[in-house]
Amino acid sequence: KVLLASICVAFLAAKWTSPRFDADSLKGARVLVTGASTGIGEQMAYHYARFGAQIVITARREKVLQQVVEKCLSLGAQKAFYIAADMANESDPDKVVDYALEKLGGLDYLVLNHIGPSPFSMWKGDVDHTKWLMKVNFFSYIQMAWKALPSLEQNKGSLVVVSSLLGKITSPFVAPYTSTKFALNGFFGSLRHELAMKKSNVSISVCTLGLIDTDSAMEKVRGVTDVQAYPATDAALNIIITGATRQPELFYPWFTYFIAITKDWFPSVTDYIIQNSYNYIP
Ligand code: NDP
Repeated sequence: KVLLASICVAFLAAKWTSPRFDADSLKGARVLVTGASTGIGEQMAYHYARFGAQIVITARREKVLQQVVEKCLSLGAQKAFYIAADMANESDPDKVVDYALEKLGGLDYLVLNHIGPSPFSMWKGDVDHTKWLMKVNFFSYIQMAWKALPSLEQNKGSLVVVSSLLGKITSPFVAPYTSTKFALNGFFGSLRHELAMKKSNVSISVCTLGLIDTDSAMEKVRGVTDVQAYPATDAALNIIITGATRQPELFYPWFTYFIAITKDWFPSVTDYIIQNSYNYIP
């Protein structure tokens, strides 16, 4: 009980002492958001637009991106552009960063959010899919981060990485996906140390999300689990605030923090809960 109370106090203290978010700081901010044609990325584009940012968005579907850009402009974005790109292509991550640098004249925020589609099912030995997913969900992230770092460094910028509770704990049915998220957490955790040791200007925020009510996520878990899903627009706003206040981590919803820190205390209990939170009949 004492331990649990101490953790709660530490969590609340961290919340209360975290810097206040100044919405004006995003007016005119130059932002690149990936995976912004749908879901959380799309919602982030709209929030940045309402804050008056200058935005470049990317994903594969050009028509959808065009519609999102139009809505961003109507919501108040100072500038909004899109570039269609497939993050499985070796050259596209660089191409996208170059485009954003050219259109906006520099970057204050790089928000890495896209994911490739991956089945929600038992792993059946598809190594090629896992390799492909690693390209889309991991290698493109580190390629874009490296390309954008000089500009972020110049502008005291922020690198925001959208990860998952499945980058902290393992779960059935998502072996390829969870691998990419663990890789992100490891890589950007290490890079954060290195930037701090170099006294870099760039902050890295890694965002741990629980289940969010995007169409793609809901389609996968419908009928399989009763875990509550949280609103994409709220998740998006929390990610933006975390980047703007240069916090190293976000846990959304809040209880994902407790799951992440307590998962190793009683491993067999954790495993039991995880395996029994899905409707599965062998
Ligand atoms: P969505 O599936 O709704 O959106 C994924 C985005 O990535 C789309 O814009 C899609 O657009 C784009 N995309 C897909 N494949 C590629 C590709 N090969 N190259 C470039 N872009 C691509 O995802 P969510 O909004 O649900 O998730 C957003 C982030 O939040 C992800 O990082 C995810 O891991 C994380 N998260 C989400 C949770 C959830 O429950 N929703 C839970 C935990 C974390 P297009 O098809 O046009 O290319």
